[in-house]
Amino acid sequence: MIYPIVKYGDPVLETPAATVTEFDDGLKKLVEDMFESMYAAHGVGLAAPQIGIGKCIAVIDVTFKEDPKAKLVLVNPEIIKKHGRQSGSEGCLSLPEFRETVSRANVVTIRAQDLKGKWFETTGEALLARAMLHETEHLQGKLYISHISALKRDLMKRKIKKLMRAGEWA
Ligand SMILES: [Zn+2]
Repeated sequence: MIYPIVKYGDPVLETPAATVTEFDDGLKKLVEDMFESMYAAHGVGLAAPQIGIGKCIAVIDVTFKEDPKAKLVLVNPEIIKKHGRQSGSEGCLSLPEFRETVSRANVVTIRAQDLKGKWFETTGEALLARAMLHETEHLQGKLYISHISALKRDLMKRKIKKLMRAGEWA
């Protein structure tokens, strides 16, 4: 099932998500739906709050279907290590049409649970590290625009308000 993507302005995006405690078939189905919804929206990462579900689950595939082994499911993820620096263009499915340069760590290690509740650690670099940080922040109720200047952020918010008034942001 493909869920519509929740856009900026919906409080679910700025509310910390709840810890997942049930590792059942419902979770498995939700994760399948998250991948489907992410691909349908042409994204490489998606956090559950972006489909209106306030649970600590994120999916990532920086290869966009190229490599099935690249599909990453993160349940209750925590960043445990990060180093280096990268600067690059970043966007978000919940803020369509906008992109900004964001500076982030270049190598990131995450601790998370899998679909069965088993803890694992994984390290990503470059785009994968960026996606891991971006999606983990979603689960804390934080958006990438918190990393850009207040000036750029205000400009973006003004443009969004205009789109909202025109009925082009829903
Ligand atoms: Zn995002």
